[in-house]
Amino acid sequence: MNFTSVNPYTQQKINSYPALGAQALDRKIRQADRAFADWSALSLENRSGFFRKVAAYLRSEKQRYGELMTAEMGKTLKESIAEVEKCAVGVDYYIEHAPTFLADLMIPTEAKTSFVAYQPLGAVLAIMPWNFPFWQVFRFAVPSLLAGNVGLLKHAANVSGCSLAIEEIFRACDFPTGVFQSLLIESKTVETVLKDARVKAVTLTGSEKAGASVASIAGSQIKKSVLELGGSDALIVLADADLEKAAKVAVQSRMQNAGQSCIAAKRFIVEKAVKTEFTDRVLQHIQAIKQGNPMDDTTTMGPVARMDLAEAIERQCAETVRQGARVLHSGNRDGCNIQPILLDKVKPGMSGFDEETFGPLAVIVEAKDEQDAVKLANQSNYGLGSALWTKDLDRAERLARQIQAGSVFVNSLMRSDPRVPFGGVKLSGFGRELAEVGMKEFLNIKTVWME
Ligand code: NDP
Repeated sequence: MNFTSVNPYTQQKINSYPALGAQALDRKIRQADRAFADWSALSLENRSGFFRKVAAYLRSEKQRYGELMTAEMGKTLKESIAEVEKCAVGVDYYIEHAPTFLADLMIPTEAKTSFVAYQPLGAVLAIMPWNFPFWQVFRFAVPSLLAGNVGLLKHAANVSGCSLAIEEIFRACDFPTGVFQSLLIESKTVETVLKDARVKAVTLTGSEKAGASVASIAGSQIKKSVLELGGSDALIVLADADLEKAAKVAVQSRMQNAGQSCIAAKRFIVEKAVKTEFTDRVLQHIQAIKQGNPMDDTTTMGPVARMDLAEAIERQCAETVRQGARVLHSGNRDGCNIQPILLDKVKPGMSGFDEETFGPLAVIVEAKDEQDAVKLANQSNYGLGSALWTKDLDRAERLARQIQAGSVFVNSLMRSDPRVPFGGVKLSGFGRELAEVGMKEFLNIKTVWME
């Protein structure tokens, strides 16, 4: 069995990578298990030293890794380089804050001393997707490894080059053998890894189907899982919003990474009074997008990552139109290259409203008033991110509390930022990544009580 990477823009094969055999897989798990004892025994300052090298290395190699990402999954080179830089910023953030996050928490009780200590669990399996092939991995690996865990990465089959490149980064920065390893395995082999007693926990970012399967296996083994799954984020625009800024950010949120982001604004829910003006402004921004070769400087949107994803968007668009939506900007498709799509008159019950759309498809949904907008936003099986546009911040705060999602960004681009927790409710998953809570997901939160 080989994993083959194909350039989605040209459809040319980039490389083939042999899958790990059973013995090689066992060896890697053994190495992880052995590495844990020494790695977790190092001081935090010592582990931080390794990560300082990682931050510098990422910055020095951003062009090379950017090109690899663009070749394998099609995001523009500018986006890829920015992603590598974001990983370095994530490293800086955790180096700075880990001493505070991981410090013992003293709790006054009637005991002589009582406190909470945060201790690593061991080898954590990370199952990661292709859409942010570096960032998704680093936002798991940096806090987990810094806290003393070791990592095993099962990356998406279409980005094996990125998977091996990330392993190479840890090697180049002199991490002890086994602290971070890439496993080129099929998804069906995940069960074997997860059932191995040496593997203590799992985190997955991807589809509900993959999440449900992995969480069931983890549950059967009484192992902790964190799931970051799909989203169908609402972007609510109320009548008093800064419409130009809202339209610009809405298009950026939906179309960046060719629409392949779990937290993209997938449903633009707009108060009736401003719908026409907002839609016109959105259309102008969509018309300005230049879809094409992701390696070109002037291209602002590359192809989607795989043919099946392009076909899925085409199907969802056609279905939504058949169900009564109106096409304002049509997305002609050539292979994985899809022009951005804008649909109006989208309602609950249509594919473009009910399903997660993972590509450059924006939909406009009309709301009667603010309460109708919130109701529509919550009328989704998902609850990952959301955005709200209004100049009235008291109102924004009141409504933000009513939105069923892991995040609400007001008058701003919904994004993943190391300083704030990231994750969802409903079918978007459970657990959190990033910030202090993300760092503590895979730790033994140990109570010590001494009389
Ligand atoms: P998948 O969920 O299939 O893939 C994500 C990761 O999970 C990959 O590493 C994949 O490996 C692995 N995986 C898939 N099935 C299993 C399984 N049963 N057990 C263990 N691991 C598994 O996503 P797709 O790439 O197929 O994308 C499909 C849809 O998923 C998208 O259209 C989007 O809706 C959603 N998605 C959401 C993402 C997010 O950021 N939340 C990211 C990517 C996708 P392999 O590649 O080998 O199958």
